Amino acid sequence: RAKDEGRGTFRYFQPEMDARVKARRALEVELRGALVVGEFTLRYQPFVSVETGKITGFEALLRWNHPERGMVPPIEFIPLAEDIGLIVPIGEWVLRQACRDAAEWPEDMRVAVNISAVQFKGQKLANLVASALTMSGIEPGRLELEITESVLLHDSEANVAVLHQLRALGVRISMDDFGTGYSSLSYLRSFPFDKIKIDQSFVREIVDNSGDAAIVSAVVGMGVSLGISTTAEGVETAEQLERLRAEGCTEVQGYYLGRPMPAGEAQKLMARQS
Ligand code: C2E
Ligand code: MG
Ligand code: MG
Ligand code: MG
Repeated sequence: RAKDEGRGTFRYFQPEMDARVKARRALEVELRGALVVGEFTLRYQPFVSVETGKITGFEALLRWNHPERGMVPPIEFIPLAEDIGLIVPIGEWVLRQACRDAAEWPEDMRVAVNISAVQFKGQKLANLVASALTMSGIEPGRLELEITESVLLHDSEANVAVLHQLRALGVRISMDDFGTGYSSLSYLRSFPFDKIKIDQSFVREIVDNSGDAAIVSAVVGMGVSLGISTTAEGVETAEQLERLRAEGCTEVQGYYLGRPMPAGEAQKLMARQS
């Protein structure tokens, strides 16, 4: 009887698990299809020099233009795409598309592309980046690759070697979401980053929370000493911008400066600026 009960319990949980596995499978099939039929699209969010107030470049942000669900944000599909390795071909599409788009921009405009830790596996990344640069014809110095701590968390020696290969191509390497990792400081020792992007969680309360303000101030100061530029993410108000200016932050990015927008709108904005 006990055995039967055990089995009964097992059966009770089965449908729920089935549903989750099925939903994941369905999403997986849909994701693969999305790449084939071209449902992925990029939005571009400007980053602005604090000193000049001018746009210096745009970050490419991936969206899934789903026929029924509309614009799906990356948080809803990138984790699964990373799990099943599909982020590799998706990431390749993002990089090539972003470089192609940037080729149409004024020559002093940079383009930033987010790279997943999974794309570092197999060490084909440097070849891909070299190919995207050649095909688009953009200057390597205009391309910024944004990586998070996960790149340095696993396989860090192999991945640092890849970072050096990328640097040798002439592209710039940014540390994204700085301050949210377990040991953000030690990552700065493992590779000479060109840019630190201060996570929006510190910027959000920079005006009201003296602790967050002190952290931002310290990170900016560290950037100055190390010769690394600092970009504050998630700037939503004029007050935040003023604080960041007073601290000596190099660049700002956030809804106050501009939302992620279609490539055409980004181009119009650049045309108006020049
Ligand atoms: P991230 O690279 O740190 O990008 C910043 C995120 O903050 C973006 O969300 C952006 O829309 C949002 N954001 C910008 N300004 C503000 C603001 O003022 N307030 C608030 N509340 N949010 C702001 P998004 O586009 O949903 O992207 C989320 C994350 O998904 C990105 O974080 C990045 O880690 C990842 N991601 C996006 N595109 C790609 C991609 O092509 N490849 C990979 N591997 N990851 C990507
Ligand atoms: Mg980013
Ligand atoms: Mg970020
Ligand atoms: Mg992020």
